Amino acid sequence: MAQPSGILPSAAAARPRVSLQRLATYEPAAVEQALRAVLAPLGGMSAFVTPGARVVLKPNLLMPSAPERAICTHPEIIRAVARLAREAGARLVEATDSPGVGTATRCMRRLGLDDGRLLTVTDADQGTDVAPPGAPFHRVRLVTRLLDADLVINLPKAKTHGQMVMTAAVKNTFGAVVGMEKAQWHFRAGRNPEDFARLLVHVHGLVAPRLSILDAVVGMEGNGPSAGDPRPLGFLLASADAHALDAVLADLWGLAPHHVFTLAVARDLGLLPPFDRIETVGASRDELRPRPAWRLARPAPLRGFGGPAWLSTLLERLMTLRPEIDRGACIACGECVRACAAHAIALNPDGAAAGPPVVVDRAQCIACFCCQEMCPEGAIRVSAGLAARLLRLGTR
Ligand code: SF4
Ligand code: SF4
Repeated sequence: MAQPSGILPSAAAARPRVSLQRLATYEPAAVEQALRAVLAPLGGMSAFVTPGARVVLKPNLLMPSAPERAICTHPEIIRAVARLAREAGARLVEATDSPGVGTATRCMRRLGLDDGRLLTVTDADQGTDVAPPGAPFHRVRLVTRLLDADLVINLPKAKTHGQMVMTAAVKNTFGAVVGMEKAQWHFRAGRNPEDFARLLVHVHGLVAPRLSILDAVVGMEGNGPSAGDPRPLGFLLASADAHALDAVLADLWGLAPHHVFTLAVARDLGLLPPFDRIETVGASRDELRPRPAWRLARPAPLRGFGGPAWLSTLLERLMTLRPEIDRGACIACGECVRACAAHAIALNPDGAAAGPPVVVDRAQCIACFCCQEMCPEGAIRVSAGLAARLLRLGTR
């Protein structure tokens, strides 16, 4: 297996193309038709799949959940992409991911996707250590099946995210990091979301999907990425450039690139051109903007809101994002405790009768929101501090 070379070469010099296509339903025939239409301006599936290739799909399989909860990429999208890849001559189509909870097989079964003739589901039980030059880490363990693939097709879901503001194409490839190493990376990146975003961008460069197709038929707003509210968006986005695709989704949600940590890092690294150099084709952006505005899980970062940089930095510190437990919804399952690499959250040793079922040590908490992401009951939400409330920068 060739050692991945690390971050992809600069795309900022090119003019990345993002294709937009309306799709209001997951009805199979409509999905297939929209998929063909969204890929047509990019040259169709055959522009990516060479005959005989082993194609690996990387959907968002955060945890075993029903399709209508909008936590995972919808099974009809996965099915239709597999069908088109087969049609283009793929020898084998696999789907894999390293979920936060459970396994890829369990997630796919919960999605109702067990058509072994169309695609093979593989669990991410084998990892390969990768040591890329120039990355902000020495090595990272990535799912071997993804690194070995002739072609990775990235199938993200459009959702809000407690730490990263949004999760789409670039954040989705972080699922390539094997098992609980994901939480450890949150811990190593510490309290600074920009450091974590830098890690995400480098991991994305290692996974190097050559095509990303975003499931934004129904997205998730509010307390995402696992406990928010499903809401129709009514479109697919596709691009060979995941950063450009994310920038277009951010724009549709009313966010500038500097409001989304991974986009800000991509721009700094020369991987994302100015927005007006991204070519959008297909449906009109104005028609796809959600109205009313998309509700976020957290306030967007203050950079770019005007005023001196030191004031933005100070106010961001005062925003003190933290996890807040809904005592009524918590079932004391302990999933959040297992997810917290900072050991900042614990089951109340005196039991729920003696206070909240789980307690957060604010001094230890690094605001990574792994606990919120993994809570199966949606009992944790991102709470913004006093400055955010005073400035009315709470979630919308
Ligand atoms: S994961 Fe959620 S439900 Fe389980 S103990 Fe933590 S807060 Fe409670
Ligand atoms: S308590 Fe939650 S937000 Fe705080 S460090 Fe642990 S997992 Fe991250």
